[in-house]
Amino acid sequence: MTGRNGDRIKLATVWLGGCSGCHMSFLDLDEWLFELAMFADVVFTPLVDIKEYPEHVDAVLVEGAVANEDNLEFIRLVRERSKWLISFGDCAVTGNVTALRNPLGDPLTILERSYIELADVNPRLPDEPDILPPLLDRVEPLHRVVHVDAYIPGCPPPADRIRKSLEAIRDGRLPKLEGQDIQFG
Ligand code: SF4
Repeated sequence: MTGRNGDRIKLATVWLGGCSGCHMSFLDLDEWLFELAMFADVVFTPLVDIKEYPEHVDAVLVEGAVANEDNLEFIRLVRERSKWLISFGDCAVTGNVTALRNPLGDPLTILERSYIELADVNPRLPDEPDILPPLLDRVEPLHRVVHVDAYIPGCPPPADRIRKSLEAIRDGRLPKLEGQDIQFG
């Protein structure tokens, strides 16, 4: 089995500011992952150790919101190199859990609260060079930063919702969910 035009689909998944729960749900596709392997090459994903995001990706599922400068730089590269970019899960779609920090204040306030006020031992801001990417002033959902082609809501999206979306991509269509499949949470 291959994609609609007989070509194997180049599929990627990306993990930004999220908890990885959306990727765990992806793994809940269980034996359907073998069917996925019949029509798609997974060319980049945090589930394996690929260092560089490739060129000419057909579709990418992006988990998580844009929370720091590394996320921002990476999502722009992903956008540039991907035909279809799909918001994968509520953090990507709305900010959700990742954006809970927004009302708490500026990045320094957040870091002081996390690493000093709430520390049980050794209260101290991380200060080794490059150990922590600078936080953005606000956490943003993907569509506030780059063009998004489709959305898969859910925290995490259930596996059958992910499967429907991947079947659409296999058939050369953007996922267009409806009914129960557009529920958040
Ligand atoms: S949508 Fe839910 S499961 Fe997915 S990254 Fe956000 S908090 Fe985790």
